[in-house]
Amino acid sequence: MEKFSSGRHGKNGFSLIGLIIVLLIVAGVIGYFSYQLFFVSKPAIKGMDALNVLNADKTVTLQGENLKTIDISIQQGGKKINLLKDTPLSREKTYTLQIKPKALGLSDGPATFIIEAEAGILKKLKQQVNTIIDTSPPYLEVLSATSVIENGGAGLTLLRAEGADSVFVKLDERIFRGFPAISNADSTGKETTINYYVLFPVPLDMKSGSTFYAVAKDAAGNQSIRNLPVSMKIIRYRSSSINIDDSFIDKVAAPLLNETNISDREAAFKKVNEELRTASIKKLFDTAQKTEPRMLWDGAFLQMKNSKVMATYGDARAYIYKGKSISRSIHLGYDLASNAHSPVEAANTGIINFAGDLGIYGNTVVIDHGTGLMSLYGHMSTITVTEGQSVKKGDIIGKTGATGLAGGDHLHFGILIEGYEVSPLYWWDQHWIKVNILDHLRP
Ligand SMILES: [Zn+2]
Repeated sequence: MEKFSSGRHGKNGFSLIGLIIVLLIVAGVIGYFSYQLFFVSKPAIKGMDALNVLNADKTVTLQGENLKTIDISIQQGGKKINLLKDTPLSREKTYTLQIKPKALGLSDGPATFIIEAEAGILKKLKQQVNTIIDTSPPYLEVLSATSVIENGGAGLTLLRAEGADSVFVKLDERIFRGFPAISNADSTGKETTINYYVLFPVPLDMKSGSTFYAVAKDAAGNQSIRNLPVSMKIIRYRSSSINIDDSFIDKVAAPLLNETNISDREAAFKKVNEELRTASIKKLFDTAQKTEPRMLWDGAFLQMKNSKVMATYGDARAYIYKGKSISRSIHLGYDLASNAHSPVEAANTGIINFAGDLGIYGNTVVIDHGTGLMSLYGHMSTITVTEGQSVKKGDIIGKTGATGLAGGDHLHFGILIEGYEVSPLYWWDQHWIKVNILDHLRP
């Protein structure tokens, strides 16, 4: 009895401890799973859109969040190649993958990424991303290009590009866009542009050793690059000095700064000539990005009737105030003067791109002649056109004036290519236009 009872007693004691242990385990398991369920966030990988297409050498940056493990592979046919396997120390980590399909033994065509990540045993991510591998660069050939280019001038190149998504000319960090010249329909009837032309500015500050490159890029990001066979001539433009006095600063600079009382005239003039000038040039550049993809102009540009050239393009100016040079600027157009409030004609056919106040340029009209070529009319007293309106060569667009940073009634006439002011002199010259621009369009 005793044995039995003590045995029963012992068994009961053991059962109790066992029960407590089981309960603790159950509580622990519940606690663990609750923690995994409620306190562990799902893993996330940002930047996967970049995996949709692969070129010959693609760099993809992925940002992982709430990671315990991550595993990325690519699959094509029966082949599966691991690209990344990691158990990061911190739960957030950025991965940069450089993927070269050919080196991995993958061929052009479809493939699939398999992305797996874990944040904990209950929070997992498994995703497939379909991709297209395209490692062949577009075909690119320079058919023709302006042979001699000058700083402040312009050039044109005709390019043949096949399989390209964008075609452009690049000079350092500056990009000049290409526009379709000829389209060919392929067997499916889809239009494929094969010839493009790029009208490009030759910046005033260009260095003699600079190289212009033609670039064709496809949708996958493959690119072909050719250098343009142009020879460069560096022109030295003139420099001059302009005397300014208190009354000029009060009359011209004060309104541009929206002030009636100027305490420091030197600082006020510097602000207008430097800060406001930079802002106006930037605004002009931005507005010039919107252009018609076809040539709207025809023949030489008109020079204002009965006008006298008061200042030329490229003039490096020093402003002299009380005997010392206080500020500098470079004049980027031609100043043409006639009688006050003379009518201003559209120099060529186009569409009004901008009509309004443009800082130091005063009341300004910009006419878009298509494919990045524009003409600019500054310091006007009256504007009689509106944005979006079509104008023909010789149409009146307003009257000359002295608005903006101007000492007297005149027209500031400029030519812009892809937002950069180049010398108008070339564009008044029918022969120059034929030899350097039009002849390269139809080689
Ligand atoms: Zn001017």
